[in-house]
Amino acid sequence: MDPIIKIENLSLVYDLGKANETKALADITAEIYPKEYIVFFGPSGCGKSTLLYVIAAMQAQTSGTIFMHDKNLGKMTEKEVTDYRQSSISMVFQQYNLIPSLNVLDNVAIPQTFRDIGPQERNPKAQALLDRFGIGAFSTRLPTELSGGQQQRVSVARALVNNTPIILADEPTGNLDSKSTQNVLDIFQELNEKDEKTIILVTHDPNQLQYAHRIFHMKDGRIIKQTINNQRTQLIDSIAREKLIKSTSAVSSAIADILSVYPELTESRLKAKAIVNYLISELDTQQLDRLERLVEDRLLGKISKDDFYAALDDPIEKGGAGMNFQSAKKIDSSIEALLAETDAIQKNIGVIDKDGKAKQRVISEIRSQLTAIVPSPLKDEQLGRLDACIAQRMAGAIDRNGFFENLDMAASHGGVGLRREVAEDMARRMEILLIRFKDYTE
Ligand code: ADP
Repeated sequence: MDPIIKIENLSLVYDLGKANETKALADITAEIYPKEYIVFFGPSGCGKSTLLYVIAAMQAQTSGTIFMHDKNLGKMTEKEVTDYRQSSISMVFQQYNLIPSLNVLDNVAIPQTFRDIGPQERNPKAQALLDRFGIGAFSTRLPTELSGGQQQRVSVARALVNNTPIILADEPTGNLDSKSTQNVLDIFQELNEKDEKTIILVTHDPNQLQYAHRIFHMKDGRIIKQTINNQRTQLIDSIAREKLIKSTSAVSSAIADILSVYPELTESRLKAKAIVNYLISELDTQQLDRLERLVEDRLLGKISKDDFYAALDDPIEKGGAGMNFQSAKKIDSSIEALLAETDAIQKNIGVIDKDGKAKQRVISEIRSQLTAIVPSPLKDEQLGRLDACIAQRMAGAIDRNGFFENLDMAASHGGVGLRREVAEDMARRMEILLIRFKDYTE
């Protein structure tokens, strides 16, 4: 199967060369296949909307290429671009973008007027779509007379009226209450599953990941990772899938990404929850809950490796997580890899007491563990600063991001002066250490 959209090394800089220059997209490469439900996920400002607008040919990239099937968007004539917008893609916006002076029916019918379709044909079609989404009775009202959820359904109907294969949705539930959010998400699911539309949705809400076949995780204008949703039958071919699973199964990188989006998650239970949800999608709610507790207990050292592994396998009725052998094995080895380094620290510290001296020892042990992977030894001055960062992070005086920034900052500016990737890796490992050395955090 060939991708419907292929994005290659796409970058976009706003206000290039000016003082307020912003790098919104950096080296994005992604392939999207027909009938896939894709989510671009990441915190506000990471470039999700910009990417959507570039795909919609509403915004020009600074460099890189986008192909629709085999057609290079950048090489299309103006007429071809207009045709692409009308026949291939439709957009749903967070703010609905309905025309306030037109009634609901006309708002839905309007894309057809651009294609010279007369009222006799376009109005019944628009009405049928409104009926489908349960808002047929409001066709003669103005958009402002409808609730937010109803307005968003109108805008979804408008997106469907030209029957394009691709629907782009920019935080479509961002302004909706939870009931309307669910309703709109159900509609997108139906459009994907029944109408076989390719859905590309951007969101910062982790609850919306479950609908997607695949998720592109974004940060600072980059795709930092792709994951697949095992709950949905994948449309991409098996070789590509295999590659993805291999590159995404590490728990440690899962924690890093989740924490980068949710730095406020400091409770060990929440972290365990995040890890488990990220890793496992084939479990039911009861199993997930059991697994989260087990992971937390294991991270906190409350249960042994053997008990942990046995409990993953045990049926729910016996207090286990009721997982199949393969999944249990995968979880077990990922968690143990994480724990290996913290165990080494614990061993060096010996009996843990909570006085200031022991705390200093914990800090220097954490420091030596963190620096074990640094390619060249750090100078004394850098080590001193690293210790201070560790102490601040343990005291909660800085968050994960502050910790990372201090490590990343040049020594001449008062930082530790590490390379960005090394600082990233240390910041990630530090978060895991924080769970284990919870007793020393304030
Ligand atoms: P997201 O959708 O993930 O919230 P955006 O794509 O809206 O992210 O923004 C990415 C970055 O580009 C942000 O730093 C934002 O401030 C900046 N940005 C977005 N639109 C513009 C614009 N029209 N002009 C200048 N900077 C912009």
